[in-house]
Amino acid sequence: MDWDTLAHCVADCTQCNLHGGRTQTVFGVGSRAADWMIIGEAPGAEEDAQGEPFVGRAGQLLNAMLQAIGLRREQVYIANILKCRPPKNRDPLPEEAQQCWPYLKRQIELVAPKVILALGRIAAQNLLLTDQAIGRLRGRIHTHAESGIPMVVTYHPAYLLRTPSEKRKAWEDLRLARRAMEQACS
Ligand code: SF4
Repeated sequence: MDWDTLAHCVADCTQCNLHGGRTQTVFGVGSRAADWMIIGEAPGAEEDAQGEPFVGRAGQLLNAMLQAIGLRREQVYIANILKCRPPKNRDPLPEEAQQCWPYLKRQIELVAPKVILALGRIAAQNLLLTDQAIGRLRGRIHTHAESGIPMVVTYHPAYLLRTPSEKRKAWEDLRLARRAMEQACS
């Protein structure tokens, strides 16, 4: 599937129950030739309303995090595990993540980034097929099994807004991700 076909499939998707509660699907945004792919959990209320991932306060913090490693939002590609908003922002169910995965998988193939940065527990656990806690997953460079792409895990910006004391660890993760990029380019 090329980008246009994929985007149409997502916009029309009724594979899981979440389609019933969405305002619109949230496909992804950014450079389709990016070296960096940023993957979060699922759309929230503002994303569902605007059709773009990581808007609002969490989006602003993500932009600042990217800026800290010399990146502008337009230079990366941003997507989520789920394309539709779960009710009351609950965690995605395993079957929802499974049904939505082929879309993200194809986005990863099309972008072919050099590094994936997973934001938060849900993204990390789904991409790494593990139930380990995020505290055990961050701090090292993983390989995303299906794509073979290096992957670094850090906290979700929404969590960092609630828990600013963890920002120092997120900064360490971003520096690690930058090292992973340097290694991928060397
Ligand atoms: S969450 Fe994914 S699988 Fe479920 S309806 Fe939306 S696009 Fe389809």
